[in-house]
Amino acid sequence: MELAQAGCDVVLLEKQPVLGWKIGETLPPEARLHLQRLGHWERFQPERHLPCHGVVSVWGHAAPVEKDFIFNPHGHGWQLDRAQFESGFLNAAVEAGCKVRLDVAVERIERQAAAWTVHTSTGSLLADVLVDCTGRRGTLIRREGGHYEQVDRLVSIFAIATTSQASDFDSRTYVESHPDGWCYTALMPNGTRTVAFQTDVDLVPEGAPTTAWFWERVRACHEICRLLNTHAYQLLDAPRMVAAHSGRFQHCAGPNWIAVGDAAMTFDPLSGQGSAKALESARLAVQAILHQGDYRTACEQLWLNFLRERRDTYRAELRWRDTPFWSRRHAA
Ligand SMILES: Cc1cc2nc3c(=O)[nH]c(=O)nc-3n(C[C@H](O)[C@H](O)[C@H](O)COP(=O)(O)OP(=O)(O)OC[C@H]3O[C@@H](n4cnc5c(N)ncnc54)[C@H](O)[C@@H]3O)c2cc1C
Repeated sequence: MELAQAGCDVVLLEKQPVLGWKIGETLPPEARLHLQRLGHWERFQPERHLPCHGVVSVWGHAAPVEKDFIFNPHGHGWQLDRAQFESGFLNAAVEAGCKVRLDVAVERIERQAAAWTVHTSTGSLLADVLVDCTGRRGTLIRREGGHYEQVDRLVSIFAIATTSQASDFDSRTYVESHPDGWCYTALMPNGTRTVAFQTDVDLVPEGAPTTAWFWERVRACHEICRLLNTHAYQLLDAPRMVAAHSGRFQHCAGPNWIAVGDAAMTFDPLSGQGSAKALESARLAVQAILHQGDYRTACEQLWLNFLRERRDTYRAELRWRDTPFWSRRHAA
């Protein structure tokens, strides 16, 4: 959107035919700055996202601690209708002059002298500059980014919970630690709840994690379990597992290419900042493309700040420091 606004001829390729639900639902209050900077605030406000007024965490001790966003200078955050959030941005990009092509997957990329040939599921394109925004897949950066520095082997096992009671209005994010990892839950604008348990991949039983395995862990998180029981939530389907590790490639940009968002760096979902950091890296990438800004140094700073925050947050939980999940994080 920003590149098109600046007069660049931009084509955006998205492999999905329709933008649907995806994990990663909480938008932190600081994201408001990006929405305003992009001139997207007026369009975002009437969308059907739930205001999120804080975080309840059970971390380091058994008693829950409430962090209210009333003390945040940027106001409240949101539990997103992710499909609507992304469609809203795509429509704004189209209005800015960006050519959006849905249902077109990038399959192969070839470097020409000073340009690229992009082979897609529907034909080939020539481009002067490539911006890799393919998320954790990192279609281009895997080829060009050098060594991959992976910090951990975190995975998220998540399920959607539903209830027939219309009694749950608590849109705060709940986070609770467990000897094998940690759990979170967030109320969605459609009245369902995402419930997710994060642990290391080698601590998950081989094959798909079962509903019984998942429930056993969620039940041990007393505050989250109390919330789910109070409103009689039941799982809609079997839990699914996705990668949630933190990591980055040695190079996030090179001659005529740049990687943005999760393609450049992935952050532990504990930070709840993936989308906001993706918007921030997009802002830095635009500066780099238009004004030769120093993208690599800016990304390095984002990464180091995240690593410090991650270390301090995990070290604040000392109750299970001898279990594999926590001892790895305390030693790192
Ligand atoms: C368990 C979990 C919980 C999370 N919770 C939060 C949270 O609460 N708040 C938060 O801010 N973040 C959260 N995140 C992180 C957040 O979802 C990501 O950081 C964010 O989606 C990154 O945005 P992105 O645009 O870089 O990548 P994505 O959102 O992954 O978008 C990449 C897009 O590229 C498309 N694509 C991929 N390959 C191709 C191809 N070859 N051709 C064409 N298109 C392609 C995909 O279809 C996709 O639409 C969470 C992540 C996990 C794993």
